[in-house]
Parts: sequence; structure tokens; C-alpha cells
Amino acid sequence: MIKTNYHMHSTFSDGRAEPEEYVKAAVEKGFVSIGFTEHGPTKFKKHWELLPEKVAEYFAEIKRLKEFYCEKIEIYCGLELDFLPGIENYDFYGSQIDYRIGSIHYFFDSDNVFGIDCRYEDFKKTVFDHFGGDVKKMVGEFYSRIIRMVEKFDPEIIGHFDLIKINNSNNEFFHEGERWYQDEIMKVLQYIAGKGTMLDVNTGGITRGFLTEPYPGPWALREAAHLKIPVTLNSDAHRPEHIDGNYELVTQILKDAGYREKMILRSGKWESVSL
Ligand SMILES: [Zn+2]
Ligand SMILES: [Zn+2]
Repeated sequence: MIKTNYHMHSTFSDGRAEPEEYVKAAVEKGFVSIGFTEHGPTKFKKHWELLPEKVAEYFAEIKRLKEFYCEKIEIYCGLELDFLPGIENYDFYGSQIDYRIGSIHYFFDSDNVFGIDCRYEDFKKTVFDHFGGDVKKMVGEFYSRIIRMVEKFDPEIIGHFDLIKINNSNNEFFHEGERWYQDEIMKVLQYIAGKGTMLDVNTGGITRGFLTEPYPGPWALREAAHLKIPVTLNSDAHRPEHIDGNYELVTQILKDAGYREKMILRSGKWESVSL
């Protein structure tokens, strides 16, 4: 397996180690290329974000590592950006980054944020306080935001495509096998098919013990494979020992879904390689 990872968080955002620790772990494990994707600053300051005053330092540190380790591994500098309709300007770091992951971690109104990637109790507040208990409305809003995000700033990668399931492992809020849910997924997949937008096939939920399957789940991956939507395999690592968490398992899930290739960054360009 050609090992790569384009979704990693260091202490510049909510990861547990300095970027260099991830680089050392990746070299040790034989990775060919990696990319850092700290959570970009947003209007709603959260404890997990890269602070605006740290952005320049982040770019400088990744550049230093890129040069220092250039004979051993390729290192890229990205950002994981939240899509907040009507608020953000997604060109704000322009050519200083190699790629962007576009993600939806929460909803918001004028004063509050309502989490998706959050504790169960907070997710219940999202369902009941923000959507009045209307789960279909919440799910519809989540997936339609992904479409608007691609329309608006066209990120190279869509982060953890079906994150909305993170607090639903016992089907408390919805059943992923139901037609209306799968229709929402299909709307997004059909919208991005042919655009070159890549899916972040993300092992992080398994490694952190929330889930037993990746984002996107096996059903969505099969549909995405039919539509020839390209994928990257990533671990959303928040600590160096997780850089290849569950790669073997999820590579097999990708193969079972019909994928034969994944995308990697080599010499600054995305190219496909065998799984
Ligand atoms: Zn994320
Ligand atoms: Zn992430």
C-alpha cells in the first residue's frame, strides 16, 4: 500500500503533538506524502481552531519541515475550512496552501453554534433546539450545505462526508438505510460527480471509537464508486500514532465498494495510484 494522509491536526489546532512528531512517525512508517490540515479560523472562535495570529507561524513551520525532510517524504500544507453560508471568504489564504478540505462541523444562528461533531448531549440540542426535533430537516440542511459549499468555494476534498451520523450509531435519530436519507446522499454525489471533487475517506471515527465504519459509509462509497468520484484515504489524525489508524480495514472496504484507486499528491499534483 502506498501510504499517504492528507487530513491531520497538530497543536496548531486541536491535535496533540507538534507537526514534526507526525512527520517523524510518517517517515518511520514509510509514508510517501502527507498534508497538514489545521482547522481554519472562523467567526465563531472555537477552542479547536488555528488562531488568526498563528496562521503565519503555521505556514512557516510546515515550509521548514517540507524543506528539512524533502529527501524522505513530501509534505504539504492545507487547511480544513468550515463552510458557514454567508459568512466566510474562502480565498483568504490563496496560494499559500496546497489544498483545502471543506467540512461542516456545526450549524449556527445569529448567536449560537449547534454542534454536529460534538458530544451526544450537545448533538441532541442541535436536533431539538435548532431543528425543533425535525431530523429530516437537519439531515437535508447538512447535505444541501455540502452542495452549497462546493458551489461556493470548490474545495479539493470534502471532509468526512456523512459526519451527521457521528452520534447516530444506534439509529436513534434516523436509519441510514431509509430511502429519504439515501436520496439526500445521492443528491450530493450526483452533484459532485465529474467535477473532480475528492471524498475524504476518513478512518478517524473508527480509530477514536465512535464508529465501526469510515466516513463515507460502505453504501455511499459503493454509489460514489459507480459515479467514479475520486477518493483520498486519510485518518483525520489528532495524534501521531493515529496517522495510519485502520488503513488496512478501510482499504478493504474501499475495494469491496468497487474502488481500485485512490488519489495522492506527488510533486504538487494529484494523481491516482492503486489501492
Ligand atoms: Zn473535521
Ligand atoms: Zn479534521
